[in-house]
Amino acid sequence: MMPITTTAAILRQRGGPFTLEPVSLADPGPGQVLVKLAACGICFTDVGVQRYEQGTPLPQVLGHEGAGTVLAVGEGVAHVAAGDRVVLSYASCGQCGSCAGHHPQYCTSFMALNYAGVLSDGRVPMHQGEAPVFGGFFGQSSFAGAAIAYARNTIRLADDVPFALAAPFGCGLQTGAGTVYNTLDAQPGHSFVVLGAGSVGLAALLAAVDRGCATIVAVDRVAERLDLARAMGATHAINSAGMAAADLALALRAVVPTGIDRIVDTTGVSAVVRGGLEGLASRGQMALLAVTAPGSEITINPNTLLGGRRLVGAVEGDADPQAFIPWLIGRHRAGRFNHAPLVQTYPFAAINEAVADMAAGRAVKPVLLME
Ligand SMILES: [Zn+2]
Ligand SMILES: [Zn+2]
Repeated sequence: MMPITTTAAILRQRGGPFTLEPVSLADPGPGQVLVKLAACGICFTDVGVQRYEQGTPLPQVLGHEGAGTVLAVGEGVAHVAAGDRVVLSYASCGQCGSCAGHHPQYCTSFMALNYAGVLSDGRVPMHQGEAPVFGGFFGQSSFAGAAIAYARNTIRLADDVPFALAAPFGCGLQTGAGTVYNTLDAQPGHSFVVLGAGSVGLAALLAAVDRGCATIVAVDRVAERLDLARAMGATHAINSAGMAAADLALALRAVVPTGIDRIVDTTGVSAVVRGGLEGLASRGQMALLAVTAPGSEITINPNTLLGGRRLVGAVEGDADPQAFIPWLIGRHRAGRFNHAPLVQTYPFAAINEAVADMAAGRAVKPVLLME
């Protein structure tokens, strides 16, 4: 097959904008899948790489919540074929101890497979003439009209889920919801708090509602997000603007005097994490999800952990995408996980506006439409 030409949003300079430019895309090699993209969500990880040096070579195409239709498959790819609708998630090797133990999110090759800028076979996925354009970001680089993914991170999608709603399952929804179902294993009757009601936090909230948590508290500094959280099932909302850690802990104790059973933090902000931890019940559990700016630190009082409390970090919701994403989409199709209110669509050409809207809190989950 001839290399195809498509349009990609290229990041040429750290901190710079994305520019839409034509690129030629390599053929899918063994174990690889060429996907024509219909939609791609924007996640804060994309913005982090846009802004901060994280070892990714430039120029590069980012984007890691792609959804679309398979154009062609390489040798040895059996579970999808040309014409299939798919969602793309993060890449993993399939062979290390973590992958073998169904924890591909902790794959020993995670950085090499998701951040190195080249495909796992060493090829640069895109070119402009002779000039390389790096990609393979999270095993996809989906800010483009087409991308090369791998069999392992290409997940079949049911016909009745629109691409714009399907795309964010690949990272943000999996991360927030998976943390509640898998990492924290929230139970019916638990009290639950989400610190930071962005797309990942609200996905966690939807999962807590689905699990039957009794008291569900959203904490954020943006009033509109707290309104959205209430509409999605929060029983309480706390505006944390200007709150010190002790104020937040007191506000949580006012809702549940015995302490909170399960907390998800998406902020990575020291005072918020500390306040949450001090509001946690004995034997309660709190998960940290935020990827923070280089040099960030969190200060906690270690005595707060002594009541059997657990503080844990997680990525990608501790989820194996081939199993978890179809399962979560099943919850969505059953009416148990309705994330539609989070999604705001933009034409692909408006990518910089969509990023700015997300950073400013005007959009919760921007999704670019490629067609
Ligand atoms: Zn692995
Ligand atoms: Zn992400």
